[in-house]
Amino acid sequence: MLDKFEDECGVFGIYGHPEAANLTYLGLYALQHRGQESCGIVASDGTALRAYRKMGLVSDAFKNNAVFEQLPGKNAIGHVRYSTAGGNDIKNCQPIMVDYVRGSIAVAHNGNLVNAQELRNELERLGSIFSTIADTEVIIHLLARAQSDSLADRVIDALKRVRGAYSLVFLTETRMVAVRDPNGFRPLILGIVDGAYVVASETCALDLIEAEFVRELDPGEMIVVDKDGLHSYHPFDVVKPSPCIFEYVYFARPDSTIFGREVYGVRKESGRQLAREYPVEADVVVAIPDSGVPAAIGYAEESGIPFELGLIRNHYVGRTFIEPQQSIRHFGVKIKLNPVRGVIEGKRVVVVDDSVVRGTTARKIIKMIRNAGAKEVHLRISSPPTSHPCYYGIDTPTRTELIASSHSIEEINRYVTSDTLGYLSQEGLHKATGGCDGGSCEGQFCTACFSGDYPVKFPRLKSDKQLGLF
Ligand code: AMP
Repeated sequence: MLDKFEDECGVFGIYGHPEAANLTYLGLYALQHRGQESCGIVASDGTALRAYRKMGLVSDAFKNNAVFEQLPGKNAIGHVRYSTAGGNDIKNCQPIMVDYVRGSIAVAHNGNLVNAQELRNELERLGSIFSTIADTEVIIHLLARAQSDSLADRVIDALKRVRGAYSLVFLTETRMVAVRDPNGFRPLILGIVDGAYVVASETCALDLIEAEFVRELDPGEMIVVDKDGLHSYHPFDVVKPSPCIFEYVYFARPDSTIFGREVYGVRKESGRQLAREYPVEADVVVAIPDSGVPAAIGYAEESGIPFELGLIRNHYVGRTFIEPQQSIRHFGVKIKLNPVRGVIEGKRVVVVDDSVVRGTTARKIIKMIRNAGAKEVHLRISSPPTSHPCYYGIDTPTRTELIASSHSIEEINRYVTSDTLGYLSQEGLHKATGGCDGGSCEGQFCTACFSGDYPVKFPRLKSDKQLGLF
């Protein structure tokens, strides 16, 4: 058992387009940042479902045109997945597809269920045999056992038993169903292209295929798309929505609009707010690319300190590289990033990143910047200290590995070797989302990774380890 949740994912679906599989592939291409370990597409031609799933990046998995001949039909769903230890196996790739007594069904899931293990134990006692370690398979088993007549009702029956985070897209021979959990943890967007409905984790996937943005699914909304069009339902008990604030901080692409705001604008405003909260006398603002760039621009604008590209990223770094025999110190970070000496030498440098997880990146980069001749290095983080693991679909290490769970800001400052360190406050981050005009900002988002305040409760293990799912 892992002592943490392990999935980060992106989902896509399209109904009623002659190039369904091809557009799904492009949608996944745009969502690649949400998961790089495996990807897959399931397509329907109205009578049967066909799947193609592979480990690796979308560009590698679908490099052969012939793949699309294996995925005929006007309807398709797709998935990109990132998983850590234990889950990086082809059999856990999504969409999951099964045949059962009522036909075939496939599902793509972004999120994590907090009662999956409980349900899995119960289903196994009743005779279910699981073939993956994904919590998504629990939903399939519940759906297969549901007794209601219509697909919509069976999906509702199944989902009424699960708790946690889910943005789901299902495909049967003749229907596509998309659902967002009642808390609305993960985004799910509705669009339309050439009269065909599209759903995707983020709007950047709509942009690439030139689909028009229609709206976001509401928290707790389910849509069913079939030959008669789109039908919307709100079948679950209403709870206070808690979309994930970390989508704004790090996870979503800056060119996407989610939860009603463009991500880029929120990140830039976080940087501005950070400059108000933690000003410093300095000569240059530098971002840790790519995640720190919008906030660094905001910090520079607000502080009046010029923004420069002080660290250059090599965009062609793969997952592994062969190191020279004579070992090079900090090779991993050096192969990815290199400082521009002319920007840094002799300067007081403000370094901006979106978050600190274990502290490794910041420590290595500060060392690199000092080696390039910086006089002072001031680290500014455009989110509050990440002190608690995510149980709703963002990959974070265990609590003990999160540096902010056991170290004060002063201790972190010493560890990463910055001259000063400033984290954006929770209030400041809320302000940057623009979502708390005049009133309290509390409770508008899930901020569990910063506050430990988990909106959907989960069982705790006896040890101090966090709950393990699979
Ligand atoms: P660390 O070196 O462990 O402190 O990680 C910090 C870096 O990881 C920052 O540059 C963040 O942009 C990035 N980061 C934050 N959250 C995640 C995540 N869930 N998955 C991958 N990278 C992340």
